Amino acid sequence: MLNVAVVGSGPAGLYAAEALVKQAAALPLPVPVRVDVIDRLPTPYGLVRYGVAPDHKSIKSIAQYLRKVLESPDVRFVGGVHLGEDVTRDELVSAYDAVIYATGAMRDRRLGIKGEDLPGSYAATDFVNWYCGHPDVAASTFTLDAESVAVIGVGNVAIDVARILARDPAELHATDVPQPVLEALHASKVREVHMIGRRGPAYAKFTTKELRELAELPGVEVIVHADEADLSAFDSSGGSVTLAESDRRVRGNLVSITKWAQGVTPATASTGHARRLIVRFWLKPVEILGTDRVTGLTLERTAIDAAGAFGGTGEYETLDAQMVLRSVGYQSVPLPGVPFDERASVVPNELGRVLAADGSPLPGEYVAGWLKRGPTGVIGTNKSDAAETVRSLLEDLAGGPGADGAQLPRAGLLRYPDPAATAVVAGNSGEAALAADGADLPSASGGTDLPAGLRTGLDAGGAVAAEADWPLGTVLAGRGIKPVSYAEWLRIETAEIDLAKSLGRGERVKLHDSEAIWSACRPQDA
Ligand code: NAP
Repeated sequence: MLNVAVVGSGPAGLYAAEALVKQAAALPLPVPVRVDVIDRLPTPYGLVRYGVAPDHKSIKSIAQYLRKVLESPDVRFVGGVHLGEDVTRDELVSAYDAVIYATGAMRDRRLGIKGEDLPGSYAATDFVNWYCGHPDVAASTFTLDAESVAVIGVGNVAIDVARILARDPAELHATDVPQPVLEALHASKVREVHMIGRRGPAYAKFTTKELRELAELPGVEVIVHADEADLSAFDSSGGSVTLAESDRRVRGNLVSITKWAQGVTPATASTGHARRLIVRFWLKPVEILGTDRVTGLTLERTAIDAAGAFGGTGEYETLDAQMVLRSVGYQSVPLPGVPFDERASVVPNELGRVLAADGSPLPGEYVAGWLKRGPTGVIGTNKSDAAETVRSLLEDLAGGPGADGAQLPRAGLLRYPDPAATAVVAGNSGEAALAADGADLPSASGGTDLPAGLRTGLDAGGAVAAEADWPLGTVLAGRGIKPVSYAEWLRIETAEIDLAKSLGRGERVKLHDSEAIWSACRPQDA
């Protein structure tokens, strides 16, 4: 039995768990594997739950796929356990044959300009967490009393936050947006949202589908300045024109941008605009203005010269704004005890193998997702990324006892587990009353065919119990920590479905504050 801990139950972590089960079963000599997916929150799915905008239903449906991974008999959810607080890296490394870190990128990047910390200036990550109901950001954090909001950055997160600010909140009723957030959006005074790119439209990071969606928002007028949409006006190098010729995404983006610059309104857009969304280019923020709170923003016109150098032109303008959302990218945070490259904000790695300071791979430690490659790509990108990490992990297994002398691919770094020490297991499917219907993960370990006695692992309240031969459980029990089980998470899910019914809103409404989440999860402790 290969026991692996995956830290983080977002897309990267769950794709890694899936890849482990599938790849280990497909080896010439299949390896039975048990995966504990650990998360600091009592709720799984990471960015799918707390990053994808509530009105992006089809992207959110990825949770249905990830649910099947969590319900695999070889995978167990271990929620409410914080690496660095509840368990150390050393304890994890000695409790498992391998650890995969997949904690994503939680922190915002900084602008490094004056006024950045004034009240009214926020990281877009906080705003995203707020409307997604993340328990770290209280429902009262945003009151939306600004009439004009500046969103810095022209990536997909900037589009998400600008869209949520501009959209008629009535359109969010059927989504899972928390009720206090929906009420704040209804009470919002926001009339203008300015999205500001420091380079031109050809260099914008957003994707065409997301950009096009802005044109379809009822009651929202999208405006682009004609000179800023002109590919040559501020770029003498010809780089914008070349990108427009060579990159399909850029071409797609320019179709929308050109129409807005020409004042063309798509047939799908309604008349009578309640809000304006102004997309600006070639402007970099130099200062956020205000004394007690944000009152505006100084922007400097930028350009690219004939030699391709990008910089400010010395021409400035002031934008009135009472709220600034800095949407200039996410950053990973270091995990206590785990190597971290401060410059690139990733865990140094080679194909997912965590590297020590001297560049050598650390036995049994791996990394996947944004923590491995930085905050790039869409959710699906994490699937191939996690599969690569798992390939490295399985290649590193020392040769097992193979029929016909078959060896696993590479003698390596991991301790090959002693078959005699095969542990007590407790997969989620045994815990949950749910059948893992539709789950298509193979089970090299025998999965649900295991003797009933081996599939225990919950205490009377439904928490993951500390079994004598579950080293992590023993460590946590010693600290009085009861990890949240999958069955307990399902109680939170049920409470959210019930809440939606009671409010007459959609399929589910997210619980926002920690207290409500914990009392749904552990009513006996409330
Ligand atoms: P991003 O795509 O990297 O965009 C960051 C933006 O911030 C860029 O426009 C960048 O401009 C700008 N920027 C960086 N530093 C700046 C500075 N000092 N001053 C002014 N502007 C600055 O990051 P993101 O929007 O946070 O998205 C992260 C990832 O999540 C992306 O892969 C994105 O596609 C993905 N995502 C996807 C979806 C979706 O599929 N619907 C939704 C949300 C997020 P430069 O290019 O000039 O550096």
